[in-house]
Amino acid sequence: MIREITRPPKIALCRNCHGTGAVPGDEPGETHVCLQCEGSGRVTVSCEMTLDIRPYKPIRKDKPRII
Ligand SMILES: [Zn+2]
Repeated sequence: MIREITRPPKIALCRNCHGTGAVPGDEPGETHVCLQCEGSGRVTVSCEMTLDIRPYKPIRKDKPRII
């Protein structure tokens, strides 16, 4: 059975800049606008997953099947 799971966008703190909107540059004291959140400090996270669920039936050769 194939199941499609979709999670709607959720607002989360940007982990790349820890919510500050800026990341340290090459020079000391220099900062750049965070590319992941574009300086807002927050991002939206959504998810699309496909689950493939199949029955698990171990094959027992030596013992009779217990129902
Ligand atoms: Zn960021």
